[in-house]
Amino acid sequence: MTDGGRFDENLGKEVELPEGWRPLYRTVVQSIADIDPNAMVIQTKEKFGELRIYMKTFNEQIYDLIDEASKQSKTICQTCGSLGVWSKTADGFYATVCADHSAGFAPAMSSVLRHMRLILPNQSDGEV
Ligand SMILES: [Zn+2]
Repeated sequence: MTDGGRFDENLGKEVELPEGWRPLYRTVVQSIADIDPNAMVIQTKEKFGELRIYMKTFNEQIYDLIDEASKQSKTICQTCGSLGVWSKTADGFYATVCADHSAGFAPAMSSVLRHMRLILPNQSDGEV
């Protein structure tokens, strides 16, 4: 890549993320650039304790990559980057946290909770 414009632009969006996920995001941005140097990240953020990356245009390879990164993010503490557990608070706030950053959180990876999320109204994230 001679022109790093789009790459730098995409990379710059890491400020929208909790610090613990920025290394993962940087890896994803590099992989995206390897697939399509013109691919543009519109937004990235933490949502329901998971890394989300939104692209301007659809590319199946890139979407697979992003799906994989989202899954991976649920094993990385979003605060410090250590091994984390996808968790939630009693009032339904999700985050992926390690033991050091888990105050107020309990692991959310329960089949019962997942089922409840499916049947409760107003739980869809309404974006994608
Ligand atoms: Zn942590």
